[in-house]
Amino acid sequence: MAIATINPATGELLKTFEPLNDAEIAEKLDLAQQAFEKYQKISFQERSVWMQKAADILDQEKADFAKIMTLEMGKPFKAAIAEVEKSAHVCRYYAEHATEFLADVSVKTDASHSFVKYQPLGIILAVMPWNFPFWQVFRFVAPALMAGNVGLLKHASNVPQCALAIEEIIQRAGFPTGVFQTLLIGAAKVADLMSDDRVKAATLTGSEPAGASLAAASGKQIKKTVLELGGSDPFIVLESADLEAAVTTATTARMLNNGQSCIAAKRFIVVETIADKFEKLLLEKFQALKIGDPMESETDLGPLATPDIIKDLDQQVQVGVKNGAKVLTGGHALSDRPGNYYPPTILTDISPDNPVAQEEFFGPVAMLFRVPDIDAAIKIANATPFGLGASAWTTNSQERDRLIEEIEAGSVFINGMVKSDPRLPFGGIKRSGYGRELSIQGIHEFVNVKTVWVK
Ligand code: NDP
Repeated sequence: MAIATINPATGELLKTFEPLNDAEIAEKLDLAQQAFEKYQKISFQERSVWMQKAADILDQEKADFAKIMTLEMGKPFKAAIAEVEKSAHVCRYYAEHATEFLADVSVKTDASHSFVKYQPLGIILAVMPWNFPFWQVFRFVAPALMAGNVGLLKHASNVPQCALAIEEIIQRAGFPTGVFQTLLIGAAKVADLMSDDRVKAATLTGSEPAGASLAAASGKQIKKTVLELGGSDPFIVLESADLEAAVTTATTARMLNNGQSCIAAKRFIVVETIADKFEKLLLEKFQALKIGDPMESETDLGPLATPDIIKDLDQQVQVGVKNGAKVLTGGHALSDRPGNYYPPTILTDISPDNPVAQEEFFGPVAMLFRVPDIDAAIKIANATPFGLGASAWTTNSQERDRLIEEIEAGSVFINGMVKSDPRLPFGGIKRSGYGRELSIQGIHEFVNVKTVWVK
């Protein structure tokens, strides 16, 4: 894939970038290693001042950064602004908490003094997706750099200007040269990077094939990875739920980021007794969404990021229909305008053997399932290869406890939408990946947990 900015709202090619050649990559690796040797000895206090400064730059120039995001991948401008603010928030969170998260932990043993010490590993490679082009990078950068690691970013090929802007923010914040660098390279170069001894570990957010490929390359070199892959999150609504709140949240949770979020609610599993009402309200809300130019403030749903995504989504919907699903609204790409526009779509009557029941729809398509009771709801919720997040709606405490206990996912949100929060760990199980980002668990992923025993 060429490294380029193509406006998804118009299809216009705005800028192309020459990928780094092997000599340029080697230079950046040398620089990263030299930077690490000094940076690992710098105090938390000093790192924290730079991280706070990065947060200030993000906040002060949020409109400029948001514009780059919207231009490159099409998210509504107001959502892009919120993403920059959230990126500033995660910088501040780790600036304030890294010292405490990485402090030595004393453990009583047969030694006179034994403790656990956390030390940085070195160069960490981050392979990142286009869907949250600032947030995904900052939620890696903030803990990794506060822990004393240095970062190399291989961002998605369709968001090069975001990647370069982030590198510049880190430099302007005062971090030493080489502590964080963007590599404008294609995916084919990632395995070579993992075979370089100086690269100690990697994190990837993206598709299953990309995750499997990075994990295989890293496995060959016995290097750790964190993988945050796709999801087909269930959104369960039981009879006692506040239906109006559930439907409003369902719409937001499905349409977030033009439907392109790993933790978007994708499968709506509703008990039969309230299913007609839920379906009617959801349809009304979907049809009321304003599709259009993502730069306009009243736009709810902008274009999908690339023509390939819209092609794949369209194809998935057609497969679903061929296998018996019914389209309640939407169902075809919008051909009346340039750009990658797909309307809010609802699929019903999806039988368990319909292949799309097992798949992730990375766009504004909701699958609606009717179930007789909570047992059937949990069964369907767990019947996919994924296990990222889950949202479930009930006011009955016994049902709530069962949902928390029995849903197979990295997170369960009761009466709320699945979201990431710097204070809570984030990640999945099954084919949604492994490892955790954010919170104390996130900063512990890329450190040497050193046991110290002194007689
Ligand atoms: P990809 O997984 O292809 O891209 C994510 C990142 O991985 C990009 O930087 C990409 O680089 C890189 N990459 C791709 N293939 C490899 C590889 N073999 N080895 C190493 N790195 C690789 O996602 P797409 O953008 O193509 O989207 C396809 C699907 O991925 C979506 O439909 C969705 O299911 C899933 N996805 C999930 C996301 C999430 O948040 N969990 C985010 C984005 C996508 P390059 O751009 O150069 O190919």
